[in-house]
Amino acid sequence: MRNRRYRTESPASGSWIRGLSQFFVTISSKMSKLPAYVDFIVVGAGVAGLRAAIALAETGKVLVLAKQELTESNTQYAQGGIAVALSDEDEISLHLQDTIQAGDGIVSADAAHILVEEGPERIQELIAWGTEFDREGTRLTFTREAAHSRDRILHAHGDSTGREIGRALYAKAATLKNISFSAFEFTASLHMTAGRICGVDLISAEGRMQTVNSSAVLLATGGAGHVYSNTTNPAVATADGIAMAFHAGAEISDMEFVQFHPTALYVKDAPRFLLSEALRGEGAVLRNAELHRFMPKYNDAAEMAPRDVVARAIAHELEVCRLKDPVVYLDMTHLKADHIRARFPRIYETCLQYNVDIAIDLVPIRPAAHYLMGGIKTDMQGRSSLPGLYAAGEAACTGVHGANRLASNSLLEGLVFGARAGHAMRDELRHVSPAKDGEAKTEPAAGSQASDPEHFIQGVQRLMWDKVGIVRSRQSLMEAIEFLQKASLELPAPSSRRSCEGRNIHTAAQLIARSAMARLESRGAHYRTDYPEHDDAKFRKHSIVGEKGVRFV
Ligand SMILES: Cc1cc2nc3c(=O)[nH]c(=O)nc-3n(C[C@H](O)[C@H](O)[C@H](O)COP(=O)(O)OP(=O)(O)OC[C@H]3O[C@@H](n4cnc5c(N)ncnc54)[C@H](O)[C@@H]3O)c2cc1C
Repeated sequence: MRNRRYRTESPASGSWIRGLSQFFVTISSKMSKLPAYVDFIVVGAGVAGLRAAIALAETGKVLVLAKQELTESNTQYAQGGIAVALSDEDEISLHLQDTIQAGDGIVSADAAHILVEEGPERIQELIAWGTEFDREGTRLTFTREAAHSRDRILHAHGDSTGREIGRALYAKAATLKNISFSAFEFTASLHMTAGRICGVDLISAEGRMQTVNSSAVLLATGGAGHVYSNTTNPAVATADGIAMAFHAGAEISDMEFVQFHPTALYVKDAPRFLLSEALRGEGAVLRNAELHRFMPKYNDAAEMAPRDVVARAIAHELEVCRLKDPVVYLDMTHLKADHIRARFPRIYETCLQYNVDIAIDLVPIRPAAHYLMGGIKTDMQGRSSLPGLYAAGEAACTGVHGANRLASNSLLEGLVFGARAGHAMRDELRHVSPAKDGEAKTEPAAGSQASDPEHFIQGVQRLMWDKVGIVRSRQSLMEAIEFLQKASLELPAPSSRRSCEGRNIHTAAQLIARSAMARLESRGAHYRTDYPEHDDAKFRKHSIVGEKGVRFV
């Protein structure tokens, strides 16, 4: 269908794309015209959607949808690796302990047990399907990232872990005749019949609209990085699934917990390219504008402190610096240049394109929005609060990350809970009679034709960065909520894909701001200057945000 469109995302990935051209010919040949009905719809072709589709293909026809190229997803950008207790020195109980500790008091124990206990099997399966994790000789090599008590991060091609996992999952899916793919199909809304989600409305790249019905829909639409003006996420991360689920009436949980990655490249006209935590794991240190190493004064773990601690420390150093457009620096100049180049080839080459040689230069960085711990509330089988609607991966909230995700747990989450959601949908197919028709469940279609979606989106993104970012307060959150309420009157009419994204970003921004306002404490990635401590008595709970307000359960 659109074989030519496998545009690459990062400047460093051209050779990878060329190397896989044969593979994409296979995938493209599996793309077909859209049917009016299919047993299962999976929205999203990242790690969660692909793993679910593989499980579903045993039982029925599966349609996997992506709004851009199949390769454009957060999964493709994941560098550092995937956490799993598989090394001889590690134990599942230690992975569990680290996950629970990082989540700062509100990790769902059930979800965390499932993640760490089923993780090794999912990884063995990935290896059996051809994933090439890095090895020394025949032994898998594990590295360490912040807040892990053991070396347990598997990586692939140095720093291209997500890309390699995505490649292997696609390759496996391509062998299953029940799976078909449709790239460049934007899911604009969900369909509901008799209280059950039974399909989706799509807008193609050419603006063609079509409805596809199914027995159930899985939203594996990824994250919400583009709610913020600075983000490590690719452009597809506009919270579409979360916004659609919210407007259909699904429960949305823990939206105040947005993880800001401390170290994104900060160079004029360059994207906020992520500089993996694994760099600090290998010994990189942070220096302020005066070139002083500052992390030891903020935390005993220094550069290896949890992400929220490092991000806030950097935000503070930037605030107290008197320079006009300050940065802090990541310093690897004391490490062996050959090792840096070999261990982080993708990061090395990408930075070089912006005239930064990470082996010999101080690398200018700032934090950026990176990962959403909250999302569509699901049970341990990926079921949302709406019959027929499932969610997995970054769009979902099982509670496994609590208030702060442990580094490299999210690819694993996509695999483990993607597979589980696939199994649950499969089991349910047996006793669901497929609906052929439905009613669109989306937000009211009103909106201003005059409103320029790009201008609208940038306004919301800037506001969110300034007022609902790394450090929040009642004052900043009130200003944000008022702005977003007024902006509701200027929503772009849902006449194009970009307008729909603008509306989704606005919805997610409201959910984040309202949840952050309601949580009168600081916990994990959510930090308020007016409530800097935990309040366990009232808030050692998950938030659920609805039309009428926020409750804690
Ligand atoms: C730069 C970066 C580095 C990272 N590094 C790591 C790491 O080292 N280890 C780790 O564990 N995690 C890492 N993460 C996080 C991790 O990559 C993601 O959380 C995970 O890949 C999410 O997978 P997913 O399947 O849920 O969503 P994604 O991989 O983001 O896939 C989303 C899919 O949904 C589709 N989609 C979205 N909206 C629509 C719509 N309206 N219609 C149709 N399709 C739609 C997209 O086209 C895409 O196919 C990183 C993230 C980033 C951005």
